[in-house]
Amino acid sequence: MIEIKEMPDGSSFIISSVADFCDAMGYCEFKAKHFLKGIRPPQTKITIEGTKAHEKQEQYEREHFELVPINKEELANLTKDVECAYEAIQTRLLVPLKFGDEKLLMLIFGRADKLIRNKGMLIVEESKFPDNATRFLEKFEPYPDQKLQTLLYLNSHFTSASSFEPSDWFEIPHNEKVWIINIKNKNTGESIKIFRGIQTREAEEFLKDNLRRFALITLGKLEPKHHQNVRKCKPCRFKDCEYMIK
Ligand code: SF4
Repeated sequence: MIEIKEMPDGSSFIISSVADFCDAMGYCEFKAKHFLKGIRPPQTKITIEGTKAHEKQEQYEREHFELVPINKEELANLTKDVECAYEAIQTRLLVPLKFGDEKLLMLIFGRADKLIRNKGMLIVEESKFPDNATRFLEKFEPYPDQKLQTLLYLNSHFTSASSFEPSDWFEIPHNEKVWIINIKNKNTGESIKIFRGIQTREAEEFLKDNLRRFALITLGKLEPKHHQNVRKCKPCRFKDCEYMIK
């Protein structure tokens, strides 16, 4: 979902899920227009299978690993290694922005697959179950939407209670940020390719640029840029999209 609310002082408050933000900024900016109007594309066999594979992994981990509740004292201790998974951790990225004299606030909310602090490194790991995982074998970089997703999580506050109250959110102190994108076989759950990297200055700029651009597009101050790629429109689930190229 993408929503714009008006704050008591008249400024705008943009709220978006991580999924819709990444779909718009990492795949096609025109999707932001659809999400703003509340239009959601139908599920397909591929998306349903991907969701099922994700749920299967969550179920497996619930049955085979002990998921202890988050202890805020342990999280505050940088020397303590921690691991949070699935229901345990939701993310809230609150971004104040300024365009000229206009101030606004943006909230991007989501749920990380896995969040770990190991030897002071904050690590976000996302599992992906694509339809054709072998196409990742020749890739050296994940897709932009996948990288954006992990960067959003890495720079968020966290909450274990699905709360939108900033007083319930907390930080996890760390020295370095690391993202992992684990591409898995949707039938067996086996890893096929793992992309991994630290959050560099370049990655920070990539995230900041996308956050600003998303806000401008959402507010209608900037027109989305068309990718002009028929191979992106063809598998897109927005079948009645007026911006589709054929
Ligand atoms: S059909 Fe093409 S232009 Fe329309 S939302 Fe999908 S990818 Fe974007």
